[in-house]
Amino acid sequence: MKVANGMKSDETVGIIGSGLGGLSAACVLAARGYKVTVFEKNEWIGGKAAVLREGGYRFDMGPTILIYPSVLRKIFTEAGRDMSQYLKLIELKPQWRSFFEDQSVLDLYGDPADMKGELDRYSPGSSEGYRKFTERSNELHEISNRFFFWRSIGSMKDTFETGSAMNLTLLRDVSRMRLGHTVAGTIRKDVKDKRVAQMLDHMVQYVGSSPERTPAILCAIGHMQASEGVWYPMGGTRAIPEALTKLATELGVEFRTSCPIKRIVSEHGSVRGVETMSGETVPLGAIVSNADAVRTNRELVGGETAERFNKRRSYEPACSGVVIYLGLDRQYEHLSHHNFVFSRSAEAEFHAIYDKGVPAEDPTAYLCAPSRTESAVASQGGEALYILVHTPYLRPGQDWTKLYPAYRKVIFDKLARTAGLKDLESHIRVEKHLTPQDIHERYGVLNGAIYGITSHGRLQGGFKPANHSIDIKGLYLAGGAAHPGPGMPMVLMSGWIAADRLDQDRIVEKQVPLPHAIAV
Ligand SMILES: Cc1cc2nc3c(=O)[nH]c(=O)nc-3n(C[C@H](O)[C@H](O)[C@H](O)COP(=O)(O)OP(=O)(O)OC[C@H]3O[C@@H](n4cnc5c(N)ncnc54)[C@H](O)[C@@H]3O)c2cc1C
Repeated sequence: MKVANGMKSDETVGIIGSGLGGLSAACVLAARGYKVTVFEKNEWIGGKAAVLREGGYRFDMGPTILIYPSVLRKIFTEAGRDMSQYLKLIELKPQWRSFFEDQSVLDLYGDPADMKGELDRYSPGSSEGYRKFTERSNELHEISNRFFFWRSIGSMKDTFETGSAMNLTLLRDVSRMRLGHTVAGTIRKDVKDKRVAQMLDHMVQYVGSSPERTPAILCAIGHMQASEGVWYPMGGTRAIPEALTKLATELGVEFRTSCPIKRIVSEHGSVRGVETMSGETVPLGAIVSNADAVRTNRELVGGETAERFNKRRSYEPACSGVVIYLGLDRQYEHLSHHNFVFSRSAEAEFHAIYDKGVPAEDPTAYLCAPSRTESAVASQGGEALYILVHTPYLRPGQDWTKLYPAYRKVIFDKLARTAGLKDLESHIRVEKHLTPQDIHERYGVLNGAIYGITSHGRLQGGFKPANHSIDIKGLYLAGGAAHPGPGMPMVLMSGWIAADRLDQDRIVEKQVPLPHAIAV
């Protein structure tokens, strides 16, 4: 085996992929004294958190809504650093603006008093149901925090392996989890205004799943957003992987970009290294794969392990999407930073995307107008408008080079009709787009899925593959298709859990302790 950097390299931890989950794992491991090398197939670091600069406009290409920033802060704290020295976060108020087909507009606020005032204006009588829902969401978040977050679990059985006997508190928590109920049903139990319920449904769009098929525990997202707010990193979401890369580099992490990994090499059930696409074999003591968890097992590991993985449980890809980036010569004052332009019928939309596997005829569009917060995204008076419409994951026979032109028109018509963007076409100076096929190829995901694996299934839906492989010693998983799931805070958490589990398993020797990292 070729030794990469003159050190005893089988003590190196390799990270496959530099998405936010991979970067988080790299920083935590390096902060705890491990020697780390990141292998990334693309030229850039950060995976989906990529940037597009075109004709004087700057667009975040993937994630734009940052919630639950305490997870990101924890990564910096691991290394004894103050996140504010690396990133400037601005809190957004309102968190979103919602546009409905009946031309009504509803703002979402985190602060309960602000939200009550807004609901009393918008739909008198609806604030009490909303308050009840937020209490329920708070409770479900508390339970998630106790059982689900910050440890490597892959099933209901793992969740309740607390090391103690079934006690009354545990039984009470299980009964409060609303097992067998869905997100959509739980919201509608308390919230009677259809439009307010539709707005709340969209929190599970962060995990690319249908609220009608997602277990109630995911209502916890509502509390995560309300309690810690929605934030914008100055410089765009792109500033997050840049800050993490700076931290990782300071901690001694080595990055190898344009370096796709072909396979994970294992022997007698233990990790030995990786083989790159160019044929180089790199010995490693352990691996955190930030590549899609299902594809890691099926393609990078392969063989009997892949067969066992496939037999254990089937996983369905989450939704995909069409993203349009428009450099405009004007701004739309009635837009907020984040906006949702809702479909006429939530049921018809989710049925098309998640049951029939076809693009919705009347979709919900998410619009990001970042010039509301940072004027540098466009030249004076312009806008770098970002439009995202969820679509089904890639199905056989769906050719997006043919589907896209007609669907672009559906989206533009929707924006004109429901959000008042009637003259959008005439103000475009720059236009780019990504289809599900492009997303599939750029990021190496499962069937073009934006958010990894769906959370469908009233009982098992919340569970993704655990962060440690149960088949191969020394293999760990981080990213949107691993526990606890997709979205920036969750993938950052998954990287932390994978690193922490690797550290607890003591498979690799630590290198020289880093004086700038705090003891953990
Ligand atoms: C259009 C879009 C909008 C989104 N909006 C939001 C949002 O507003 N808020 C939010 O929180 N989340 C959002 N998300 C989801 C969020 O971006 C993801 O959950 C998160 O960024 C994924 O991080 P990850 O760690 O799973 O890695 P990814 O970003 O998927 O990165 C994985 C990396 O692994 C690399 N890789 C794969 N295979 C190999 C291999 N064999 N060898 C080497 N490298 C490999 C890939 O090139 C990639 O860089 C959005 C995603 C998209 C695409």
